[in-house]
Amino acid sequence: MALAGIYGPDDLGHAVPPHAAPQTPGSIAVENPARALPMPSLDWTPEVERETAHLYERVKTVIPPIEWPFMAPYVKAINELKRERNAVILAHNYQTPEIFNCVSDIVGDSLKLAIEATKVKADVIVQCGVHFMAETAKILNPSKTVLIPDSRAGCSLASAITGEDVRLLRERFPGVPVVAYVNTSADVKAEVDICCTSSNAVAVVESLGSDTVIMVPDQYLAKYVASQTKVKIIAWKGACEVHERFTGDELRSYRQADPTVQIIAHPECPPDVIAEADFTGSTAHMIDWVRNHKPQRVVMVTECSMADNVQAELPQVNFIKPCNLCPHMKRITLPKILDSLVYMREEIVIDPMIADRARRSVERMINLKN
Ligand code: SF4
Repeated sequence: MALAGIYGPDDLGHAVPPHAAPQTPGSIAVENPARALPMPSLDWTPEVERETAHLYERVKTVIPPIEWPFMAPYVKAINELKRERNAVILAHNYQTPEIFNCVSDIVGDSLKLAIEATKVKADVIVQCGVHFMAETAKILNPSKTVLIPDSRAGCSLASAITGEDVRLLRERFPGVPVVAYVNTSADVKAEVDICCTSSNAVAVVESLGSDTVIMVPDQYLAKYVASQTKVKIIAWKGACEVHERFTGDELRSYRQADPTVQIIAHPECPPDVIAEADFTGSTAHMIDWVRNHKPQRVVMVTECSMADNVQAELPQVNFIKPCNLCPHMKRITLPKILDSLVYMREEIVIDPMIADRARRSVERMINLKN
C-alpha cells in the first residue's frame, strides 16, 4: 500500500529544518576527570604482537599486516582496561573491523544491541555506535555508567525530528498510534507509543491493532513497511544520509556487469533501490542471508564497513563494496575508545522523567519481540 501521507516540520506550523534540530534535548554527555586512570603504553613490542596474534587472525583478510602494529597496542590496552573497569563494549555492525572483531563483547544491529544491553552485568557500557544507541543503552540501564567515545557521533535520522514534532503530529492525527524507529533521541522515544527497528518494523506496526499508524522519522523505512502491510502509514520526511545516496541505476550497472551477482539492500534505501534488490532486510537479516546463501558475489547495499566485517567471517564470498561510509559511525576509533575507558568519557546523562517515558516505548518493543 502507498503511504497515506508524509509530513515534515513545515507541515506542522513550526519550522525546524530537518537535520538542524537539536539532536538530543533529553540527554547530555559529560566527562568525569576524577575517575581517570594512567594512560597505558602504546608501544608495538614482541609481547603486544604475541598477545594480539589470535585477534589479528580474525581480521587478517581485511586489515593489511602493515597496519596491525598501529592497531594492536590499542587493542591490547582496551581489552585490559575493560577488565579493570568491569566494562563491556557494544558495537554496531557498521563499526570498523578492528573494533567489531578485536575489542567488542557484543555486536549486532540496533535491536540486538538494545536487547543485549538489558542483560549486561558489567558496571560500565561503552557504546561503539552513534549517540541514540548510547542513549538507548542508558535508558535500559539507568543504574550503569554508559559511555560514548565521541558524543558528536550523531545520525541524520535522529536529528530529523524532535519530541515537539511528535506532539504536533498527535494534535494533527488524534488517536493515531505513533511508532518511532530506534534511530531517534530519548526526547522523541518519550513521546511515542512504541519503538521499532528495521528488523521488526512490520510486526510492531501490525501489533497496534489500528488501521492507521504514524511512523517516524524514516520515510523510506515507512514506504517499505507500507509495501508489506495493509495498515495505512503516515510518514515523516527524515532519511538516512548514507542509504539515500544509493540509486537503482547504480545497482542495475552492477547487474549488467555480472548478471549472477546477488544484491541485498537495507530498508532505509529509497524504493527504486529496493526494487532492484534480491533481498531486503535489516543489517542482522542481511548478514544471516549471506551466511545461509553463501553467494559467490554479493553487493551489500548498506554502510560499507559491514561488508568488511562479514568478509572477515566468510572470506570465500566476493563482496562488491559500494563504499558509502557513515561519517557518524566513523567518529568511533580505537584511540577514542581507549580515551573513553581511561578518562570515563563521555558519560550519557538523561533527564530521569524523559528516560522513564522513553523506556516504556523501548521495552514495549522488546517485550513484543520476546
Ligand atoms: S548509517 Fe544512517 S541511520 Fe545509521 S547512524 Fe549513519 S546516518 Fe544514522
